[in-house]
Amino acid sequence: MSENGVKDLTIIGGGPTGLFGLFYAGVRGLDAQLVEAMDELGGALAALYAEKFVYDMAGFPAILAKNLVAAMYEQANQWQYPVHLSQKILDFDEDDGIYVLRAQSGEEFRSKSVLIANGNGAFAPRKLRLAGVEPFEDKQIFYTVKNMDLFRDKRVLVIGGGDSALDWALALDEVAKMVTLIHRLPVWQAHEATVKLVFESNVDVHFPRHEAQELHVSDGKLTGVTIVNLSSKETFDLDVDVILICVGFLMDTTVIRKWGVELEGRKGIKVDPATMVTSRPGVYAAGDIAAYEGKINLIACGASEAAMAVNQAVRYINPDARLAPGHSSDMDIFAKRD
Ligand SMILES: Cc1cc2nc3c(=O)[nH]c(=O)nc-3n(C[C@H](O)[C@H](O)[C@H](O)COP(=O)(O)OP(=O)(O)OC[C@H]3O[C@@H](n4cnc5c(N)ncnc54)[C@H](O)[C@@H]3O)c2cc1C
Repeated sequence: MSENGVKDLTIIGGGPTGLFGLFYAGVRGLDAQLVEAMDELGGALAALYAEKFVYDMAGFPAILAKNLVAAMYEQANQWQYPVHLSQKILDFDEDDGIYVLRAQSGEEFRSKSVLIANGNGAFAPRKLRLAGVEPFEDKQIFYTVKNMDLFRDKRVLVIGGGDSALDWALALDEVAKMVTLIHRLPVWQAHEATVKLVFESNVDVHFPRHEAQELHVSDGKLTGVTIVNLSSKETFDLDVDVILICVGFLMDTTVIRKWGVELEGRKGIKVDPATMVTSRPGVYAAGDIAAYEGKINLIACGASEAAMAVNQAVRYINPDARLAPGHSSDMDIFAKRD
């Protein structure tokens, strides 16, 4: 169905909403593509909590976030649609009924309809103001845990005082040789129950007002950190193999302002909740970015919104098409399965 590279549907964002939208585009026979700013799929699940369990997906009593992403990709990829990674969409225009999406890389993506599923914007981890961090990033200094084995039997320093930092300190305590947790604020920003669990665990906690002051490097390897108590100004040295920095993510939410769609507040795109259409015809929004009265930000809700948007896009492209997709259990495209 592609005409000179023009797709029926282009999805911005490869989080769970975008992935389910891509799958659904195939169910409805749309020729689709997906464009993702990061170098991996999965959105918040990959960037923020890959190793955590999700307990509220229909049909899965418990599933690791990274395994859910893998399953969603497998489901979407059965149609073999193009997935363009490391392509952050900056703006898009309409040219004779075709939307032209422009990425930071300079590439353009042309499409009859668009599904915006860019969540809370493109993620970038918040960094520490500490000299010498960069050379060790992704080697001995991490901002998220994508692979627990990198921490196995290591001396780990976790920096941060939110749920993410404390949850990871507890999880790593199961595999690491030693886990130390420091937090620079006078209060925890995590759930009380998690704070209690941390103090009951083997995690060595330095709180309140402790921060990393200096990295120790020997033979090109990170070997330790000087920690300072900001109240007493006392310092001590800690031997470490790995540092996990959990001080939040910065999200670029400004880009949607250039997309010509009506916004709801500063961070959401206004949609009609019955159709997920934005203020631009043929442009839909779903998942965390879509804003309407009663909105709930959950993976399941984003998937439902994506399916609604794709069915509407089918009608937008071909007004004679049926809105309702029918039942997948009756569809020929799945008939070859066991
Ligand atoms: C710690 C944590 C735990 C959670 N636990 C649960 C849970 O247990 N159950 C549950 O249902 N929900 C949970 N959530 C919420 C859930 O993760 C979100 O509702 C869900 O990720 C929204 O999916 P999305 O695809 O809309 O957005 P996202 O997951 O944010 O994905 C958006 C994607 O779009 C990309 N993108 C952004 N801007 C651009 C651009 N300009 N160009 C191209 N790509 C772009 C981003 O890089 C990202 O990959 C949790 C959230 C957090 C933070």
